Amino acid sequence: MPHDADVEKVVIVGSGPAGWTAAIYAARANLRPLVFAGRPKSSPTTILPGGQLMMTTEVENYPGFPHGVTGPKLMAYFEQQAVRFGTRIVTDNGLEPDVSNADDGHSYSYQDCARVDFSRRPFVVSSEDGTEFRAHSVIIATGATANWIGLPNEQRLARMGGGVSACAVCDGALPVFRDKVLAVVGGGDSAVEEATYLTKFASKVCMIHRRDQLRASKIMAQRAMSNPKIEILWNQVVVDVLGENMITGIRLKDTISGAESDLPVGGLFAAIGHTPATAFLEGQLELDAKKYIKLRDPYRSTTSVEGVFAAGDCVDSVYRQAITAAGMGCKAALDAERWLADKGIE
Ligand code: NAP
Repeated sequence: MPHDADVEKVVIVGSGPAGWTAAIYAARANLRPLVFAGRPKSSPTTILPGGQLMMTTEVENYPGFPHGVTGPKLMAYFEQQAVRFGTRIVTDNGLEPDVSNADDGHSYSYQDCARVDFSRRPFVVSSEDGTEFRAHSVIIATGATANWIGLPNEQRLARMGGGVSACAVCDGALPVFRDKVLAVVGGGDSAVEEATYLTKFASKVCMIHRRDQLRASKIMAQRAMSNPKIEILWNQVVVDVLGENMITGIRLKDTISGAESDLPVGGLFAAIGHTPATAFLEGQLELDAKKYIKLRDPYRSTTSVEGVFAAGDCVDSVYRQAITAAGMGCKAALDAERWLADKGIE
């Protein structure tokens, strides 16, 4: 494939640990990667530039930070490191980003990738405003977004800021939740993490779990069960969210007896897993039944389309950790670099 100066060598879609790590490696290989960092959505399901770590307070398990680091700060460091080696970022006003103070926020918005066309070569990757970028190779690192219970009143109140959220770390510190009884739905590590976080503000946190055993890791489960401000309501599902403009309670159903009861709460936080952000790839890349991108070889980052690589939570439904995503981003950049070299594009 002849090298065309107008064609990007590698476009990276996504700006979590996988995307920025791919950018660091690709930039250091002189590929001048172009990153679609994404932007927050107006819907209750928010994708933030920087990915899910932007919704996390303390990250205590990322190696190299013995005293922990906040998620936003860690992502700002990733971004600064990627830009230092020549990574470019698609923004809405075309400015080259100044990321020296990225942890204090930006004065411009990053662009989402709206469409891809992998049926042509070079590939075409389009931003929301319709700008088309041509690329010899693409790395997809779009991550995953939080799931909702799916109740009409849950969605209505979430949209109107009525005390329903899928991210305790984003919203829990709001004054509206202070000194209230709050509910967290789910029994995984996220639910424990969110419940623990909310105890800083709430008078009490009720974890609502549909089974009689937490899915969370032992250490996290222990943390929830030993916290005097957390009560776990076992074998319960939320069947309705009560309140007109602001949540006043939730209706619970006992999964064993079928009995329904109302629990007065001042906030509801869904922590019931995630869905990969791959909708824009339908028909372009092979996805599995849960819409995660299928890799051709589980030890590589190769996808169903040659020259398209994938990394991070959009591929991984098992580990979903910042460190594993970063490792996969590294693999994707190395795979892309080798693939480009094989094609004579350096
Ligand atoms: P998860 O492990 O998939 O847990 C989801 C929880 O939500 C499960 O308890 C599940 O119930 C429940 N659930 C799912 N759909 C539901 C529904 N419609 N109604 C009610 N409950 C529902 O997801 P996660 O907690 O987000 O964790 C994802 C991954 O990230 C895990 O590998 C986890 O270890 C990791 N993680 C780690 C940390 C940490 O170590 N600090 C923090 C957060 C996440 P069932 O149990 O009945 O299936």
